[in-house]
Amino acid sequence: MGGAGAVGVGVGEALGVAVAGDVALGVTVLVLVELTVEVELEVGVAVRVAVPVGVAVLVLEGLTVEVELEVAVAVRVGDPVVLRTLRPVDELLVGRTLRSVEHRGKFLIFRFDGGFDGIAMTVNPMLAGLFSLQPVGAKVTKDTRLRLELEGGTELRYRDDVRMGKVYVGIDAPGLADIGPDVGTLDWGQAEFALRAKAKRSEVRNLLQDQSFISGIGNAYADEILWDAKLHPKRRVGSLTTDEMARFHLSLRSVMARGLAQVQETMPAQLGEKPRAHFKVRGRAGMLGSRCGTTIMRRRKGLGDVDLCPTCQPAPKGQLY
Ligand SMILES: [Zn+2]
Repeated sequence: MGGAGAVGVGVGEALGVAVAGDVALGVTVLVLVELTVEVELEVGVAVRVAVPVGVAVLVLEGLTVEVELEVAVAVRVGDPVVLRTLRPVDELLVGRTLRSVEHRGKFLIFRFDGGFDGIAMTVNPMLAGLFSLQPVGAKVTKDTRLRLELEGGTELRYRDDVRMGKVYVGIDAPGLADIGPDVGTLDWGQAEFALRAKAKRSEVRNLLQDQSFISGIGNAYADEILWDAKLHPKRRVGSLTTDEMARFHLSLRSVMARGLAQVQETMPAQLGEKPRAHFKVRGRAGMLGSRCGTTIMRRRKGLGDVDLCPTCQPAPKGQLY
């Protein structure tokens, strides 16, 4: 990865646009059709043709995709539950031009210009939110929460079948301002990583998922990183030896790099589907671990689960598992 410059992607058949967030890896998949996309290669980006849908662009976190879309002419709210705004959304967005789509942590930011100031629609799709671009008049599915009609007869639709996501228009999304650097573009050396990690004083798995430390690591990759580093999830950062800290840093970088390569390799997967076949520990509870042969265990943690190897990742004193 790396390198600077810009790539223009011209696209063919008119089928639609879809944006899907792979929250765990921090990769947004944009499938853009009948649009010209300028991709700024500030930190490196993979561009692939996803036959037959059009062009798929993998957007690393922190990267902005410039889009030339038509002006918004109407906004239809299918479900106000997902919406956070201080004024009616049509008042805020109609007449503006969508200029870019940016991926920051768990958020997708759609930037519009026009009027005195630009305005952003910031979406936290959580696990279920999905975007699609459809012709106006196309059948509206039951899970459609927001429709943004664009000049030229297309509609950007936000779908969310469990209504977990939130759409913020013209107001700051909670948590966005204190988001840490993106895991996809992290450039901390070992010493800096150690310093910043210790300042957080948390358990290693909580640290990985602390979006103010590093953004974009979900449950699955947190498990993979800790297994790779042979660290128990409940180890406190302050208890790590110099060697363990170095391993932690190395595993973070290598696991995420391998994950990204795997996602790119597997493209185009079903939109919204996350490639999982390369996982060594996540989702493998009850199976024999590939490193030492011990059966992988699954444990509850808060509202989620942790998968780990009890042999390679010994529990700290006083911890039951
Ligand atoms: Zn093991």
